[in-house]
Amino acid sequence: VKTFEELADQVIETDVVIFGGGLAGGMAAIRTKENRDIDVWVVEKSTVRRGGEVAAGLDHYPAIAHPKINGVTAEEYGNMRADDFDGLANRKLSIITAKDALKPVAVLEDIGVKIREDDGTVKMQPGRIGGGFRWREGEKRPPAGDFILYRGADLHFKLADEMERRGVNILERTMLTNLITKDGEVIGGTAFNYRTGKLYVFKAKAVVIATGGAQRIYGYPYGIFPQNLFLSYTCPANHGGGTAAAWRAGAKLVNMEYVYVHTEIKGTPWTSAQGFTTWTTNTKGEILEDKYRELIQKYGRGGFYPNTYYCFAPNMAEAEINRDVLFYDSRHTDELDEGVGHFMDANEGPIMLKILQQRGGLKNTVSEIIPWITGLPRNFSGIWHDENGQTSLKGLFTAGDVAGGLPLYGGTGAFVWGYRIAEYLRTYILDKDKPVFGPEQTSQVQAEKNRVFAPLAHASNGEEPLELEDYVRKVMREYVCVNKVGPKLKRAQELLKIVKGKFVPVLGASNFHELMRAIELQDIIDIAEVHAATSLLRTETRMAPYHYRVDYPEKDDVNWRKNILVHKVDGEIKYIFQVNDPKKVQKS
Ligand SMILES: Cc1cc2nc3c(=O)[nH]c(=O)nc-3n(C[C@H](O)[C@H](O)[C@H](O)COP(=O)(O)OP(=O)(O)OC[C@H]3O[C@@H](n4cnc5c(N)ncnc54)[C@H](O)[C@@H]3O)c2cc1C
Repeated sequence: VKTFEELADQVIETDVVIFGGGLAGGMAAIRTKENRDIDVWVVEKSTVRRGGEVAAGLDHYPAIAHPKINGVTAEEYGNMRADDFDGLANRKLSIITAKDALKPVAVLEDIGVKIREDDGTVKMQPGRIGGGFRWREGEKRPPAGDFILYRGADLHFKLADEMERRGVNILERTMLTNLITKDGEVIGGTAFNYRTGKLYVFKAKAVVIATGGAQRIYGYPYGIFPQNLFLSYTCPANHGGGTAAAWRAGAKLVNMEYVYVHTEIKGTPWTSAQGFTTWTTNTKGEILEDKYRELIQKYGRGGFYPNTYYCFAPNMAEAEINRDVLFYDSRHTDELDEGVGHFMDANEGPIMLKILQQRGGLKNTVSEIIPWITGLPRNFSGIWHDENGQTSLKGLFTAGDVAGGLPLYGGTGAFVWGYRIAEYLRTYILDKDKPVFGPEQTSQVQAEKNRVFAPLAHASNGEEPLELEDYVRKVMREYVCVNKVGPKLKRAQELLKIVKGKFVPVLGASNFHELMRAIELQDIIDIAEVHAATSLLRTETRMAPYHYRVDYPEKDDVNWRKNILVHKVDGEIKYIFQVNDPKKVQKS
């Protein structure tokens, strides 16, 4: 029998290991290193300079609420965001996020991110209801979080430089594959480098998962195979590895039945700033923001992306997007919005700006849009955590898009929770002893090594991971997605079971890169299974199109104004139904 040291290519013992070096992981790393005596490792699947959702850069810092800035208290704003999510977002965590929103801004300025213009001013933009829903003169505006427009094109570089400057250890092209536990506590993890084929074993006092959202469950219909698997507005490297590893270790997940729906310009994997600054129109030239204005005002801001709501208005059975062709129409765009659009695209999507300029510019273009369905709503669906970012498993923390239970707070959520976890860890670490691995942990490492490298045995005779992924994502699109109905959800479960039982054991990989694809596929299947099972369980409709049951089209507050928490206990799936937000919000 081999020891775990012999099984691993390298064992790394540290205080804190952070999986994922994006916005949340980067912020957590530099803030933890405020105490230079703490040893920190960041394990990043891609690279810390150009990885994650905003690899190209950021253009705005959302969720700013302050009486001196916009007359809105953070408490009001946090409450309002919780209301948007109709009982399923944690109100306390939402208020914490709003209250802490400005703290990371100071850190970003310190490390050289251009939050201010050259003349020292900050470009504030009024919060608006997505896709061009502007408040008219004299209209009563609800407390909205404003955002700062800033020049964040090099933000990832600045974060990476700061990590290096503070002595954070960085391991790139290396992905978390599973966690190592002892008596219910997480004390390490295994990671695989898909360039060298090395298997790393981490022993740590605290483990942080910051691997981004689970964004590879559904497919993009207009790309050829295999590019269709990677075309996405979100980051395709964020396949859900952290969510799946936490799930397999027994951590609780929350809101897993929800689907992330967004509208995008057909033919490009992006909205660009157009989603912010244009109107949504149909072939009759009707502006949906006007047509459904009263509806949207009555039902509130609508959770994730209100311009997505317009497309599915007035209701799912008669959804505008199913009866007409819809567009982002920038012919009505005024000069102010055109300027905002240029600013945003220049900082975040210069290539998109080029494409739009070739099509006639940010103003005066009409682009067809489609619903874009990638995976789970980030920040809202994912790993459950408390106000310190600690998950239901001791020693395991989470931040950013991979975390669940919050309203969508975007980069602000990632920065705030990365920051917050670091504050907590700096004292948490002091009382912790070094983890000790026994025979049980050695057998976990052995099992993981067998699992990770198994596809090499089948090489090119085995099942092709990308073909199977394509199949799984087609199953999800056809049987789960936005028009959920009992028999189809059950069929999805059957089909996933067949893939898992029959084809995963004979997956083939001829090199380390293909091995990565095989690992990703297994994570995607695990998440898809939980997503289908919880979708079947929630026999009501809440926040359509994000969870719409064709067979249960009504909202059922009496039975369902509560979260579904799900976790694995001794290999069995357990569900917990939890009212986290007793405040009753009358929306209809
Ligand atoms: C196009 C676009 C534009 C956006 N613009 C803005 C904006 O202007 N302002 C704003 O506030 N928000 C914006 N957002 C949202 C924001 O980018 C995300 O909320 C934020 O990046 C989340 O941070 P994160 O650290 O959780 O994830 P990410 O920043 O995506 O980082 C996750 C990291 O984990 C790595 N990873 C994945 N799997 C593994 C694994 N198994 N092991 C190790 N590492 C792994 C990934 O490679 C990645 O680097 C935008 C999002 C998109 C898609």
